[in-house]
Amino acid sequence: MDTDKKEEAGAEIAADGRRLTRIRIRHGQTQIDTDRTASSFPPASVSIRVNLRLIPGVLPTPTRANYHAAHMDRFDILIVGAGPAGSFAAECLARGGVRVALFDGRPPGEPKACGGGVTSKALKAWPHLLDAVGRTIDELDMYSPSGKHLHLKLDEPFAVYSRNAFDTFLLERARAAGAKVFAEKISGRGFKQNEDGWIVRAQSGTVFFTDWLVGADGANSAIAKKLAGPLPPAEMEVAFGYRAPLPVDGEAATVVAFLPKWVGYAWAFPRIDHISFGIATTQDAFDHDSLDALMWDFMVAYYGAPRYRTPTSRGSDRVPSLNRNAAMRLWKKSHGTDSSDARKVRAELKNTAERYAARIPGLAPRTWDTRHACGERWALLGDAAGFADPVTGEGIYYALRSAELFADAYLSGSPLDYEPRWRADFGKELQRASQMRRKFYGNFWGAPFTDRMIEFARGHRGIRKVLGQLVAGDQGYVNLKKKLARSALKPL
Ligand SMILES: Cc1cc2nc3c(=O)[nH]c(=O)nc-3n(C[C@H](O)[C@H](O)[C@H](O)COP(=O)(O)OP(=O)(O)OC[C@H]3O[C@@H](n4cnc5c(N)ncnc54)[C@H](O)[C@@H]3O)c2cc1C
Repeated sequence: MDTDKKEEAGAEIAADGRRLTRIRIRHGQTQIDTDRTASSFPPASVSIRVNLRLIPGVLPTPTRANYHAAHMDRFDILIVGAGPAGSFAAECLARGGVRVALFDGRPPGEPKACGGGVTSKALKAWPHLLDAVGRTIDELDMYSPSGKHLHLKLDEPFAVYSRNAFDTFLLERARAAGAKVFAEKISGRGFKQNEDGWIVRAQSGTVFFTDWLVGADGANSAIAKKLAGPLPPAEMEVAFGYRAPLPVDGEAATVVAFLPKWVGYAWAFPRIDHISFGIATTQDAFDHDSLDALMWDFMVAYYGAPRYRTPTSRGSDRVPSLNRNAAMRLWKKSHGTDSSDARKVRAELKNTAERYAARIPGLAPRTWDTRHACGERWALLGDAAGFADPVTGEGIYYALRSAELFADAYLSGSPLDYEPRWRADFGKELQRASQMRRKFYGNFWGAPFTDRMIEFARGHRGIRKVLGQLVAGDQGYVNLKKKLARSALKPL
């Protein structure tokens, strides 16, 4: 916007339309004209909501005097971002009697790009998540980079949610607990600290005061960039994919397939009304065309898997039955990704699949020691703080857990304890994951480690069990190697 432009802002007087106060701001100078018909300002019984549209970068200096004069909204904590981290923090804090404002600028109905997978570890920690509309998954098909298949029956199911449904569920709980919710964006230039706390200007121009500012605004967090510094591209992962229709019979496999020659994996997560397909990989080596081609091969193979036993193969049974163990033929040209059937699936998907893409933080091992998630009257939660698993990109558990840890620290009267609390709780584990990433997607005994892992798991119940626990979120990376080795030594 042109900063020379004269901006005009109005002060609304809710109870009396005749009284009107205008504040004009030009080149940072404030000029106040009051409507001649107003006998006094502010009138004693009228509540005023000041709606300032300001020149970007120019914030009024907040003082106790102008705050009280204008009756501006003041909160104990203002949270930017109503994803899982922001909404859950708002709920926990509001339940503890804290005055919380929760802001989100996402257009209504626009889903956050995400697979929506929530581990059983998260479901056990917060069983109320099962009240959100989603799907629970107790069987998983895994594929290695060379196309080897492993069908895993999970002892503990995980859930897959549409992020619209999941985020709305958490937001409404925050609102019900007493948080004030605002459908507005807060830009990186919309907040400023002074000795009383923070003055925050929403995109609409409305100004708020708060003691604490919390950034829960995701991987591209404007708050984090300003308060903790930007992350280099090498510490970001990219995930992209397509939302595509469920197969006609609604039966859909849940698949995780490690990529050939790339760091990362592809997934197919069936939701209530569609399938979320995606690939998560590192940003520094991202090559859109090659990865998109892999994504399409994966989707075509998914719909083309021999999913049914024919009636003849089941004797007198007339109805074809679903063959849950039928494997996809993956990652090789000879696997028919260019057959006429495959071309039909591809053409159909071109008309129906919706693309999405987004970033996930993937902090380097050293950054875990140097980066802070809170400071004087500010805190960062979830993706904004960099809290995602650098191997899998899983971030919902850490978003919720960081929200809970911050709320606990704040409610105990020592908000800055949030820093040691998250480090002790999951910091070491995520740091270990980032040290493991190269090994996890690297080679082991002359083949990709993920190939070996799936190969061994196919023949060994103990290794399958550890893999199931890894998927459930109950097996960390800190003792993964030891656990795998110990399991491999046990009899089959
Ligand atoms: C493609 C993809 C697939 C993924 N799949 C999984 C998965 O299956 N399981 C898993 O656990 N994790 C997954 N993740 C990671 C997961 O999505 C995140 O870790 C998680 O959403 C983090 O939650 P959050 O609340 O910190 O941030 P977000 O969910 O990103 O929420 C941030 C919120 O802040 C709002 N916001 C942003 N900027 C502003 C602003 N300036 N003003 C106001 N509001 C703002 C946004 O609208 C958004 O609602 C995936 C990520 C991607 C990209």
